Amino acid sequence: MRVAVAGCLHESNTFVGSWTDRRCFVEGYLGWGEALIPVWGPAHHEVGGFLAALAQEGVDTIPIGMAWATPGGPVTDAFFDEVCDRFCTELRRCRPDGILLALHGAMVTPRFHSADTELLSRVRSAVGDDIPVAVTLDFHANVTAEMADLADIIVAYQTYPHVDQWQCGYKAAQLLISALRQKRRPVTVVAKPPLFIPILAQETQQPPMSELLEQARQLEQRPGVLAVSLVAGFPYADVPAMGASVVVVAQGDQRPAAAEAAEELAASLWSRRHQLQVPAYTIPEAVQRGCTAPSTPVLLIDLGDNIGGGTAGDGTRLLEELLRQKVQGFLAVLWAPEAVAMARQRGVGASLTVTVGGTDPRQGSPLTLHGIVRALHDGRWIEPDPRHGGRRFHDQGPTAVLELDDDNLLVLNSLRTPPFSLGQLTSLGLEPARRRMIIVKAAIAYKAAYTSIAGTILPVDTPGPTAAQPHLWPEHFPYARISRPLFPLDAEALW
Ligand SMILES: [Zn+2]
Repeated sequence: MRVAVAGCLHESNTFVGSWTDRRCFVEGYLGWGEALIPVWGPAHHEVGGFLAALAQEGVDTIPIGMAWATPGGPVTDAFFDEVCDRFCTELRRCRPDGILLALHGAMVTPRFHSADTELLSRVRSAVGDDIPVAVTLDFHANVTAEMADLADIIVAYQTYPHVDQWQCGYKAAQLLISALRQKRRPVTVVAKPPLFIPILAQETQQPPMSELLEQARQLEQRPGVLAVSLVAGFPYADVPAMGASVVVVAQGDQRPAAAEAAEELAASLWSRRHQLQVPAYTIPEAVQRGCTAPSTPVLLIDLGDNIGGGTAGDGTRLLEELLRQKVQGFLAVLWAPEAVAMARQRGVGASLTVTVGGTDPRQGSPLTLHGIVRALHDGRWIEPDPRHGGRRFHDQGPTAVLELDDDNLLVLNSLRTPPFSLGQLTSLGLEPARRRMIIVKAAIAYKAAYTSIAGTILPVDTPGPTAAQPHLWPEHFPYARISRPLFPLDAEALW
């Protein structure tokens, strides 16, 4: 038995004014054939789970390719077509018995609101209807009904921060292998209540999500039901499928049972919709609270500049307020490739004036700062533990540490890098646990790494293309393509 493995993962934010092109994937990961095995095999990623299950079951693996880029603006059609063409050509050539496909589920291109659905459709056309296809999705997928028609099996991560990616891939592979061995095609159904879940309410260790996920695990015990995924969705995409979903996989003759389980969980989610709100602090309030918090470091969560949701990573709103309130001992990471180039030119010990920020005016104005270059680094590190995103090898590009007045530190990097691993700081010789305050450009995902050092966590309602409550910022989120009504945008929505 031979199973093909391929992945193309991107979370596309349609509210940032940039594109994700081939270069972004080359900087993230783009590899073909056997090359993907040493990179993704040891990772806490669904592809690592695929490869482990196939090896364990004695199934021959045909590695096709893997494309991954940091979340950002929509993917260009040219690169999307390139990946699809290569996947389809290879699959036609090698004629596998089954296919394991790692997708994100919130990839958008100018031509396709759900590029994942289009990719799946092209793969299906290439291999025909007889070959089973199992798909893994991110917890932030905006799932379409067509995905369920095109795939035999769909399993999504069930944690946020995503620390179960490996398990998700392993489960999808096991379901595919047993379908192949038993020569039975499973069935996948989708239920979509008309709501989206604001990002802070998506945390899976807190109610109501923790309770809804517990219900999902119970539904998996029903006869004939193989997998139940509660999928939170990605709110920062103006596409028809934006919102939460329930995806159920069952034995092929159990479609009614699958539909019933999906509707039941979707109804529970809908009934809890008013609880899916978590408040955040205003910028001045958060910094004031941080100054008097007894337990440090204080993490200021920069919700509007959530790099893992596609932003530039150089928002200055919080930094400006920290300087205004004369906070001592803070640490902030900013994407600032030009400033890094200057620091590298001048060298460690040099005194430097840099201008940072300003990519997205919603996230603050450019700031000119003066400091001493304390360290330079190539920006690469290895993260051995399960962290959100599942990557083992990290690269934030050439990086500089700049010491400002008042014992404040700026880490300036050259590749936009979400704060999913403390290695981003410790590899530079920094001790994040000893800082007074740290700006964390994320929403929830950082917690898998940062909870171990956090003294106080203050989510901050900063504006930007990942603002925590997009329904309250209509001027920044002019939704035109989503399905309406959609709660909480439409507070009186009925289902
Ligand atoms: Zn996600």
